[in-house]
Amino acid sequence: MGVSRATDQAFDFHMPVVVVGAGAAGLTAALAARDAGAEVLLLERDPHPRGSTSMSQGYACAAGTKIQREQGIEDGSETFFADIMARTKGTADPVVARTVADNAGETIDWLVERHAIPFRLNISWAGFFGHSVNRMHGVPSRTGEELHGSLIRAAEEAGVTLVTGAHVDEVYADADGTVRGVRIQRRDGGVEKVGCDALVLTTCGFGANHEMVRKFIPSFGTAPYYRYFGHEGNDGEGIQWGVELGGALGCMDAYQGYGALAEPYGIIVNYDMVMQGAITVNTLGERFSNENADISAQALNILRQPDGIGWIIFDDERRALVEDLPEYRELASLGAVRTAETSDALAALIKVPADALRRTLDDVERLTKGEITCPFGRDFTRHPPLSGRLHALKTTGALFHTQGGLKVDAGARVLREDGTPLPNLLAGGGTACSISGNGVDGYLPAAGLATAITLGRLAGATAAGLAAA
Ligand SMILES: Cc1cc2nc3c(=O)[nH]c(=O)nc-3n(C[C@H](O)[C@H](O)[C@H](O)COP(=O)(O)OP(=O)(O)OC[C@H]3O[C@@H](n4cnc5c(N)ncnc54)[C@H](O)[C@@H]3O)c2cc1C
Repeated sequence: MGVSRATDQAFDFHMPVVVVGAGAAGLTAALAARDAGAEVLLLERDPHPRGSTSMSQGYACAAGTKIQREQGIEDGSETFFADIMARTKGTADPVVARTVADNAGETIDWLVERHAIPFRLNISWAGFFGHSVNRMHGVPSRTGEELHGSLIRAAEEAGVTLVTGAHVDEVYADADGTVRGVRIQRRDGGVEKVGCDALVLTTCGFGANHEMVRKFIPSFGTAPYYRYFGHEGNDGEGIQWGVELGGALGCMDAYQGYGALAEPYGIIVNYDMVMQGAITVNTLGERFSNENADISAQALNILRQPDGIGWIIFDDERRALVEDLPEYRELASLGAVRTAETSDALAALIKVPADALRRTLDDVERLTKGEITCPFGRDFTRHPPLSGRLHALKTTGALFHTQGGLKVDAGARVLREDGTPLPNLLAGGGTACSISGNGVDGYLPAAGLATAITLGRLAGATAAGLAAA
């Protein structure tokens, strides 16, 4: 199944705008199309929309928002654009980078004011991983579940027709790439064909398609430690349809890794405590990286350690930063957090050499006092030393989300190799080329959702315009 060029399709019904995939990108696309007055059909393969959006921590980076201004944070699209280009060493797609830098702030304001999405600035990530100011907008619980639930509620209130259990498996198009409609497979085996004037692809990336990962990200896809932790629906269908329709691809080797996934629970460990002074050691009891250099590339640093394991070591002060979060509470209730009064007792609990862990912690204390220099380049002097009883969480690294995809213009229209737009095909979120340049280390934290909601909104507005024309 893929793209069918048969020109004699009879459709069961017609909708001006069809959006495929009800994650953050699809829901914002549908909201924007509704706001522009279009009738929208949003199709989701799962019985209840989850996607990577629900699995995420729900943060989206955006510059120049009202929320930032209320908190006295000076930020704007130029600063954001410069941060994107610096993080990616100039390799980010300049059109998408500019589009996200210019429009993410307005998108957050629009979602807050018009659709009551409860964004706020609830963590302070200025100066970490490439954001020069705090522009991390999240929902109160700091979970993607809450963000996703709020977007679904807003879509229902706005009159979006959301059909779940509806797997799109074929796109009908003319020879010039004009999309005429899609075919839906229902869970009961039923099949429907829907005609449309504009099609928005928001099926996300290809992390769940190991064949595509091997092809486009061979350094990770063929590594013995390969591990994916995103939604199984991110199997690259939308990207493949876009290519069959004539679309060009950008930055296909880019991906978001994460270096703190609780093992074997598959639950995210919030990185705040590492950013504020916790450390990660391997099973030899030794640090092996600057834990705060790059949260995405830290995934590879951990996966290259013995058994692909890193133990995050923290104290009560660092634990207090995250202990009220749902993920941490779940980990604690599962017995994942090991606690001991001394370094030797903790080493025995987590089965690492006691003398090595003691040496590591002694070194960290000296690092916080500025007596020695970190061999990996981390600055410990801005945090108080780890003290009192100690805790440990076993973690590993994983690929969370691919960042390459269909090339789009500033209105989220899918582009051909020659730079001209396809007639009525749009893409957003993980289906589109993101702002992460190449490889694993161009990912700015919260760029995934920033791209999803920004390109989603632009795609919805453009689709509504095309449908009305
Ligand atoms: C564990 C984890 C944590 C993360 N944390 C963050 C974070 O805090 N901040 C951030 O910016 N990014 C984060 N990310 C990345 C972020 O989740 C994604 O960038 C974002 O959710 C992408 O949104 P989307 O709408 O493109 O995709 P999704 O949310 O995956 O939605 C795509 C939807 O399309 C549906 N679909 C697929 N194919 C079809 C089809 N053929 N027919 C019908 N429906 C289909 C899928 O079922 C899915 O519901 C995280 C990712 C993971 C995995």
